[in-house]
Amino acid sequence: MSSDLASKLNFVDFGTICNNCSMNCCKKFYAVLLPEEEEKFRNIAFDVETPLGSVKAIGARNGKPCVFLNEKGFCRIYPERPFDCRLWPLILYYDFSTGEKVVYLDLECPAVERGLISKEFVERAMDVLKNTKIDENWLKKYTLAPWPNKLREIQRFK
Ligand code: SF4
Repeated sequence: MSSDLASKLNFVDFGTICNNCSMNCCKKFYAVLLPEEEEKFRNIAFDVETPLGSVKAIGARNGKPCVFLNEKGFCRIYPERPFDCRLWPLILYYDFSTGEKVVYLDLECPAVERGLISKEFVERAMDVLKNTKIDENWLKKYTLAPWPNKLREIQRFK
C-alpha cells in the first residue's frame, strides 16, 4: 500500500517527459521516505543525516543507481514508488523563519529548464499538498537533508 500522501499523487505520470532523459534522477539522487513509508522499504532504506536527526531514504547512493531502476532506465515499482519520487521535480520544504511550507521546482531536472512541467500539473499537486496533513517534524528534517538546492520558488502556504 502507498501512503495516503503518495496515493493522492497517483495521477503523476512523467513517462513521456522522462523518456530519453540523459540525467536520470534515479541514478543521481536519493528519495526521502515519509515516516509511513519506512516499513515498506525497510530492507533497502538507508539513513540520511540532518542537523535534526536522520531520515530514511532509497534511491541513488555512492554513485550507484536506485536498486529499483531497471536496465532500460525505468522504475520497476513506478505505481508503488514513494511520495518523494512522485512529487519531484516539485519539492516541498519548510521555511524555518516564517513557519510556512514552500513549494519549489528543482532546476536539477532538465524538464523544468525546458518548461515541460505544466501549470495544470503544478496546480493539481499543490492542491494535494495543501489538503493533506504532513508531519512537520519530518518536513523539517527533509528540508535539511543535503541537496543541491537549485530551486525556484513557486508557492508558499501555512
Ligand atoms: S523508486 Fe523508482 S522512481 Fe524512485 S528513485 Fe527508485 S527507480 Fe527512481
